[in-house]
Amino acid sequence: MNAIPSSSGALVVGTGTAGLATALALARQGIPVSLLGPRAPIPAAAGDTYDPRVYAVSPASQAFLAKLGVWDLLPPERIARIESMDVMGAAPSTAPVLTDDAPSSSAASTSSTPGRIQLSAWQGNLPALAWVVEGRELERVLRQAVGVLGVAWTQERFVALGMGDPSAPLEVTTDAGRILRTELAIGADGAESPLRKAAGLSSHGSDYEATGLVVHLDVEQPHQGVALQWFTPDGVLALLPMPDTADGAQVSMVWSMETTQANALLALPAAEQASALAARLQTVAGDRVGRIRVRGTLHGFPLRVRSANPMVMARVALVGDAAHLIHPLAGQGLNLGLGDAAGLAAAITEREHFRRIGDLRVLRRYARARAPALLAMRAATDGLYRLFTPQDPLLGWVRNTGMALVDRLPPIKRALIAGASKF
Ligand SMILES: Cc1cc2nc3c(=O)[nH]c(=O)nc-3n(C[C@H](O)[C@H](O)[C@H](O)COP(=O)(O)OP(=O)(O)OC[C@H]3O[C@@H](n4cnc5c(N)ncnc54)[C@H](O)[C@@H]3O)c2cc1C
Repeated sequence: MNAIPSSSGALVVGTGTAGLATALALARQGIPVSLLGPRAPIPAAAGDTYDPRVYAVSPASQAFLAKLGVWDLLPPERIARIESMDVMGAAPSTAPVLTDDAPSSSAASTSSTPGRIQLSAWQGNLPALAWVVEGRELERVLRQAVGVLGVAWTQERFVALGMGDPSAPLEVTTDAGRILRTELAIGADGAESPLRKAAGLSSHGSDYEATGLVVHLDVEQPHQGVALQWFTPDGVLALLPMPDTADGAQVSMVWSMETTQANALLALPAAEQASALAARLQTVAGDRVGRIRVRGTLHGFPLRVRSANPMVMARVALVGDAAHLIHPLAGQGLNLGLGDAAGLAAAITEREHFRRIGDLRVLRRYARARAPALLAMRAATDGLYRLFTPQDPLLGWVRNTGMALVDRLPPIKRALIAGASKF
């Protein structure tokens, strides 16, 4: 597994989900590929202890993972199926104060009802809207598969990129001083992507000044495969179905809120934190899931949006968070990364026989193929975030009325489900 890669293939820098999936997709097409990055041990899955990072894997991602031969390696008892979604708007207290110039009183009475959209897999003719999978298990099976295919893995870190003559291989220097030569360097090294910076590919974005809090919860009532999401003036709260534990039903919480509020919760001593969080959750969720109890440790992460433009240059391509970072409210970061892996492998496999794998024309085809999905996802998540975050009462009225309307229009609901089922 630790052979030095030859210069005739691709080198994937970064060994998270996007990097492993890209290496696997290329290897399965017979493209020589190797990996560069750390290989931290993955703790064994232990009974009722679940990885705090779980992903909602879309049907397109599930099909791709199945095609790569790894879906069936995931332990089925640790996967939960999302059969429907119930998305709820702001609480009634956020309804606008209407003036003579504002919408009519009949609209006002509608506005005081929080908006709601219900989506289900059967409406979209899908086996599931998504599957909730632990990040740790996904990485484990991807590692297993690249190992079986004999993909070389240099367990060092990328530090520098030598571009040299455009017709010559790139020179990648590792933190151990090793130099690896490659025809194509694929940056899968996360949001801060040292490879992207070294290649001089620019990346733009902003912080939301919001933090995502994640933890698993025991809930009194069975979730029945329903993912719940509340868009409140305080932020976006999602409860995803998880496998039951010995303590009963379990859901995974992702709550994005203002960083100051999140930090105040994170700073509390464990017992106080658990009761404060459960109390706040109960205020938003009401009796929807019954009594809530926090299990495990609360984790926080900053919410940012960022994208590399362009995401390719001759001999360099970016995938996953190295190429784009979106708000996790749609839970699509991993799905976009898997879509990149599939798209890049397709562009390389389908290239003309006389073109090299690092040919800019080949890589631009990959970037063009990914552009619509990336643009749509960025616009949707950023737009939703801005619509739901401000305390502006008119926006509150717009979102609640809009949600109520969408919920009554089956074609729009089907379009939403179809969109969510893609990479
Ligand atoms: C709490 C949370 C919940 C989420 N939920 C969802 C969800 O439900 N659905 C979804 O689709 N997405 C979700 N996401 C987003 C998802 O986690 C990311 O989009 C995804 O993990 C990105 O994978 P990646 O492989 O691109 O990057 P990363 O996972 O960041 O991996 C980058 C890799 O590069 C390596 N690396 C870094 N520097 C170097 C270097 N110098 N040399 C070599 N290697 C290097 C790192 O060690 C790491 O292995 C969630 C994110 C968070 C934080």
